[in-house]
Order: sequence, then structure tokens, then C-alpha cells
Amino acid sequence: MAEKKTKKSKESKELFAEFPNLYKDISKDDLEACMNYAEEYKAFLDISKTEREFVENAIEAATDLGFVDIESKKTLKAGDKVFSSIKDKGLVLAVIGKKPVSEGINILGAHIDSPRLDLKPNPVYEDAEAAYFKTHYYGGIKKYQWTTIPLAIHGVIFTKDGVKHKITIGEKDEDPIFYITDLLPHLGNEQMKKNASEFISGEDLNVVIGGMPLKDAEKEPYKAYVLKYLNDNYGIVEKDFVTGEIEIVPAMKARDLGFDRAFIAAYGHDDKVCAYPALTALLTQERPSKTCVTMLTDKEEIGSYANSGAQSVLYENFLMELLAKTNKGTFDLLTYRKAIAASKMLSTDVSNAFDPKYASVSDSRNTAYMSKGIKLEKYVGARGKSGTNEATGDFVAEIVSVFDKNSIPWQTGELGKVDAGGGGTISAYMAKHGMNVIDAGVPVWSMHAPYEVISKIDIYYTYLAYKAFIENI
Ligand SMILES: [Zn+2]
Repeated sequence: MAEKKTKKSKESKELFAEFPNLYKDISKDDLEACMNYAEEYKAFLDISKTEREFVENAIEAATDLGFVDIESKKTLKAGDKVFSSIKDKGLVLAVIGKKPVSEGINILGAHIDSPRLDLKPNPVYEDAEAAYFKTHYYGGIKKYQWTTIPLAIHGVIFTKDGVKHKITIGEKDEDPIFYITDLLPHLGNEQMKKNASEFISGEDLNVVIGGMPLKDAEKEPYKAYVLKYLNDNYGIVEKDFVTGEIEIVPAMKARDLGFDRAFIAAYGHDDKVCAYPALTALLTQERPSKTCVTMLTDKEEIGSYANSGAQSVLYENFLMELLAKTNKGTFDLLTYRKAIAASKMLSTDVSNAFDPKYASVSDSRNTAYMSKGIKLEKYVGARGKSGTNEATGDFVAEIVSVFDKNSIPWQTGELGKVDAGGGGTISAYMAKHGMNVIDAGVPVWSMHAPYEVISKIDIYYTYLAYKAFIENI
């Protein structure tokens, strides 16, 4: 009996797909490595809340490891490490491989913008003896989630003389924070009857920034107080706001979540929880077989437009430059197109993790779960796969084989039930160049909320998955 049972369970193991919780069988050493990686990620995240900050910190980390601006190189050879800033809001980095670029490159592509509130071009006003900023939200948010939480201001603003002023207020313990009010429940009868999408309108996402009048001000003393403060500290005047790229983000640091510290709660996991492993997996490369590239793009949350989004030719220019500079400066379009068509990419973006509280929106057999590793998503899209890339079966087989050979756990699924909604990533914009692309990233709870949740073991194994991909595919 015993023998038969063993045989049966072996058969079952091979026949059935199993996706275990990875904390179940993790070794002490792996758990320690996972916890250490999580600490590095949290520290990087806390200083990289905006795309500009992420780019700056990524360039600093890369430069320390010998990466240089591709502009400074006339030719490139195996082992060379280069990067190019995309308008200071996107970044693309490469380590040149031993094989020619014309044989194809391995790409990891994440985005480093996150949902937030941007200042309007003329944001400062006063009302009922308090001063406010007007905002315009960026990306898909539930607007009510942004009320009554501590907010910080991050960004840049340019004065008439062309000088760029960096502003970060609300992150240090001694800094003030900013705030969007909500109605007290005692007077909330009418509000509570509304749909959640109508609790607060976009025009009402106004941020409290002051409440003291400027003595002897000729007009609007509360607004004048704020303008004088900004002028004294940054030299800016009201008209300069039109140049500003000021983002309002949660003033909360990344924190361990749970008695066992299994999870991390933080602002901006989407998609920095994939961008960070995509960056660190590349930074560890020395002389890879194929040329490896990490793309960190901007504007994904609003459709990958603008000159810093994944649809911008600036990312392609970098790939063209890789081909030309590894080929003594010669370039022809057909060779380039064939090189890109021979390339392979993981679109490293997050997906939703199954949440038992909201089980009804997911197909439990086709969804990602927390702590089960990287999620391979053949397609995204909405309403009948509309607008999505779809990875070919051949390519999925290649990825799964590399992951299995390197003991990388993975899971798979869709973004919610068929008619429940949907989403997109940068994969479709890259696939149109002919390369094989599949979405592969970390599952998230409360995606797009001001404070999102991921599992430490998922980001750790995702990092190992990205490394296995660029080194072995
Ligand atoms: Zn997103």
C-alpha cells in the first residue's frame, strides 16, 4: 500500500501544476538573502519616490560600478557598461555581451512612474483663510484614498534664469507634511450615499499648504505667506510654477508588514518593485554572453506617451547606438531591425495578487497569489484581450525552461476575471518591433493605492528570475 501511494503521489506531482507558497520550504540561507534584499529595496525606494529621483539614484549606483554615459564612448566591446538618461525621467542601461548585438539582445523593461497627484500649472490659491495647491491626478487612482493621509512634495521647478530647483518637503521627521481634508462622518449623510468614485472629485483634490497670513500683505495674505516662503527658500515666484514638475506623494516610508515581516507596505511598488530587481540584475553583469539591457521608462501609468515614455524613439536610439558602436560605427537599418526581432524581453511590470476579500473579481485558477513567486502573464488587455501583446507559446516554453533549469519558482494567471476590467503594460509597444515579449513581475495587493503591499519573497525570487533570464536566454 505504502509503495503504491508513493508512486501515485509521484505521478500526481508530475501531472498536476503546483504553485506552493515559497515561505513553506525556504532554507535559512535563502530566507536571510531574501530579507537582506528587501532591506536594500526599501532603502532605495524611500529615496526614489519619483521617476526623476529613481533615475538619479540608479545612475549613481551604476556609475559606482563602472557604467558610463554611452555618449562618452566611440566604440563598444564585450564587458563595456553604458547608460543613457532619457530626459532625466527614464533610463536605459546596457552591458555589452560576447556575442554580436546583431544576434539579438536580452531586455528587462520596467516603468518608474507611479500614480500620484501633480500640481496644476497655476496651483496656489487661498480660500476661507487657508492656502492650497490645486492638483491634477496622474494615473488610475481611487481619489478618496488620497484624503486624510500625510503627503510630501517632490519635484523640480525652474526660475527665469534657467536654474533648476529641487524641492523635497515632507520626508524628514522634522519636515511639515501636506494634507487633503475629508468630511466628518457627523455631516456625511449625503456624501455616504454617493458612489465611491464621486466621494471626492478631481477638482476637489486640493492640498492644504498653509494657514498663516502674511502681515501687511496687499491681497490674499494666506497665499502671500506661502509665496513669500517659497521665494525666500527657493527664489521662485508664482509664475515659475508653470515650469514645475511637482508631484504630491504619500509622506510614508516603506515598512515591514506583519508580525513575521513577510510583506512590505510602501508607496510606489508599482512598478519600482520590478524596476529595482531589473536594475540590480543588470548591475551584477560582467561579460554576459548576449548584450543585456534594462529599460526604466516613464509615463507608463498614462499610456507610455511623451519623449520619456516607452513609445519614445529615444529608447530605440540607444539600441541603435549599441549596434553601431559595437560595429565600428557602421549602421544599417535592416541589420538593426533583424537584431531587434531576434531580441527577447521580459516586460517587468506588476500584476494583481489574489485578495480573498475581493475574490469575486478573480478566477482563482488563473490569478497570481502572494508569496508564490514571479507571475508570468502571457497577455493583459481588457474585454476580449483588447490592446494587449500576447507572448507566443514558443517563447513561453523558452522562459519556463530557463526558469526551471535555474530553480526559479514561477506562477501564472490573468489580471482579474474575463469581464472584470483589465490593464496594460509596455509590452505591446516593444513587441511591435518584432521582439518576443512576455509580462513577468511581482504580484501586488492594493495596487495603485497610496500604500501598496508586496511579499519579500516575491521580489527576491523575481530578482533571481530576471538574472536567470538575461544570463541564459
Ligand atoms: Zn500601474
